[in-house]
Amino acid sequence: MTHRGVLIGCGFFARNHMEAWTRQAGVKIVGVCDTDPAKAEAFAAAYGAEAGTDAAEMLARLRPDFVDIATTVGSHRALVELAARHARLVICQKPFAETLDDGAAMVAACAERGVVLTVHENFRWQRPIREMKARMDGLGKPRFLRLSFRHGYDIYANQPYLAEVPDLALTDVGLHLFDMARHLMGDVVRVACEVQRRNPAVKGEDAFTALLRHASGAVSSVECSFHSVLEPDPFPQSLALLEGDEGSLELTQGYAMRLHKGGRVESFDTEPACPDWGAKPWHLIQDSVVAFQAHVAAVLDGRAEAAPSGAHNLGTLRLTLAAIRAGQTGQTVDLA
Ligand code: NAD
Repeated sequence: MTHRGVLIGCGFFARNHMEAWTRQAGVKIVGVCDTDPAKAEAFAAAYGAEAGTDAAEMLARLRPDFVDIATTVGSHRALVELAARHARLVICQKPFAETLDDGAAMVAACAERGVVLTVHENFRWQRPIREMKARMDGLGKPRFLRLSFRHGYDIYANQPYLAEVPDLALTDVGLHLFDMARHLMGDVVRVACEVQRRNPAVKGEDAFTALLRHASGAVSSVECSFHSVLEPDPFPQSLALLEGDEGSLELTQGYAMRLHKGGRVESFDTEPACPDWGAKPWHLIQDSVVAFQAHVAAVLDGRAEAAPSGAHNLGTLRLTLAAIRAGQTGQTVDLA
């Protein structure tokens, strides 16, 4: 059975969505929508779908099984509420919402109709993170995680709107890192955070260092900078150290993963394959889109539960907003 989808938002990142959807078995994107007709038509021509500029009209007419929302955050609430009236599964790109009220309304709109809501939270679907999660069982009780995402890659070239975002590092990549921390170590009860504006050419805080206390008692140190001078530049890799009572997993630049356990070190290469439509260094991200969408196809088939769900991602939004508050006030914020 083929699940029919409509993509809303034919911008920079949606190209990855479409390249991956085109190759995903059991799924077909039948409509592509953008308020800019030229963008919708370019996607329609490239990927063989119908083009449109009015999401409400397209969804009412095409009645898809699922809707993939790839617009920027300001439009997410209205589009999720609209999609919940027309499909049985809705995917929303990150950042999920700007406020907790918006996020809660989006979760409620889907829950009321029995619609599955998932957030395109692809960092947890990156191959090194999938491998880390799969190998964690052998480490004993997880006690400490360090996640580091630091680079100097020009992210503003493809996404010029980022230069205007006030809490840039926390809301663009911080929430990916927080989702990974919650995925690996569980819910967070307390957060402290220092933010920095490093690049004078951008408006927002483009670096942060956060300290998380998890409900389990574990601690995570999460850091991010978009203005680091590193050769070779690690973009877009997240580096990690996860310590349990019986072993540690280390992820270093070049996708090298090392398992420290029982007086031995075992090494693995966790570099993902570069999709035939992809390019390095984006292959890490592109492969994670492929993995996430394969998961969505399994959810549509009834073979998996959406991960992360909208409800779970609301917790990540709450943590991100708390980290922003901690950065502004210098106070530790309680989430429990
Ligand atoms: P973009 O501005 O290039 O594309 C967004 C598109 O949505 C634009 O073409 C715009 O015209 C269209 N649009 C806006 N409102 C619309 C509406 N109501 N109906 C139809 N079309 C509408 O942005 P982008 O860089 O592609 O980013 C899109 C989203 O993807 C952002 O939320 C961003 O954070 C996210 N993103 C995620 C990742 C990731 O790794 N998960 C990476 C990059 C960007």
